[in-house]
Amino acid sequence: MSTHGNFLHELVGSMSQGAAGNPTVVMIEAAFKHHGLHWRYINMEVAPEDLAAAVRGARAMGFRGFNCSLPHKVTVIPHLDGLGESASVMGAVNCVVRRGDKFIGENTDGKGFLKSLATVTDPKGKTVVLFGAGGAARAIAVELALAGAKRITIVNRSESRGSELARLLREKLSIESELVSWRGDHALAAGTDIVINATSIGLYDADARLCLDLSTLRSGVIVADVIGNPPRTRLIRDAEARGCRVLDGLGMLVNQGVVGVQYWTGVEPDACVMRKALEEALGLPRNS
Ligand code: NDP
Repeated sequence: MSTHGNFLHELVGSMSQGAAGNPTVVMIEAAFKHHGLHWRYINMEVAPEDLAAAVRGARAMGFRGFNCSLPHKVTVIPHLDGLGESASVMGAVNCVVRRGDKFIGENTDGKGFLKSLATVTDPKGKTVVLFGAGGAARAIAVELALAGAKRITIVNRSESRGSELARLLREKLSIESELVSWRGDHALAAGTDIVINATSIGLYDADARLCLDLSTLRSGVIVADVIGNPPRTRLIRDAEARGCRVLDGLGMLVNQGVVGVQYWTGVEPDACVMRKALEEALGLPRNS
């Protein structure tokens, strides 16, 4: 679209606390620039008590949507007009999309993971071991179930959180799922196709070790990590050394941005441009 003589941008953005540490703006604006989109992404610091007013403000100013990060992913829901399928199952929204005059809540965390996974495999019929049962694990598990995974074993330290997620998967998505309580090094069952770290182990600590019995990790298994900083976690390095195919957390982060830009603008953005912008913003070496 020619922007000549048009001084009004389409607006999207992010509402969170701790917004200054969130690099998403850099990769989204890189995509807008690369694709000649007359759009802006505004990173906004919003306190919980101001969320309702902020969403009303976004409507009043004609925002086309916005990301929600911590602590607004659940509390934003009453301020929206509807939810997409996975956001409704998860009970959490990280991406609001204006459709007509309605603000609809979606969740792109798990969709970003799936897009990253799609570069190496189709989850349909696969057996998955998922470490963690927090927000990221929940988002990933729900999307994997919706995409037809056969079985998801949740391995988590807290039994209550872990069994709640396994129950949600069984009852709402009719997939085989159970909790294995995490005590010592977890031994993978034979027949595991995909292993995912969706805990915060490894965040800002390249040497942090996930308690996994590496001797049970056979080559050919796909190993994914949600940790984006640093992207080459100890799990990723160990898995590579055992001949596994690996997916880092930066891929998930970039791809959830890709899904968001697609939702808002209808344009499929170039993921490489977005990853490069993110790597530069995080001070990571190229192709880290
Ligand atoms: P939550 O706080 O909701 O969940 C954290 C999970 O990690 C829980 O399952 C918790 O177990 C587990 N955990 C934390 N520390 C330990 C430990 N020392 N030993 C065993 N288990 C542990 O966080 P989120 O799910 O929101 O985020 C998790 C990670 O995912 C974060 O590091 C975040 O950066 C990353 N993330 C990455 C994204 C991406 O796009 N790449 C998107 C979203 C998140 P328990 O239940 O027992 O407490």
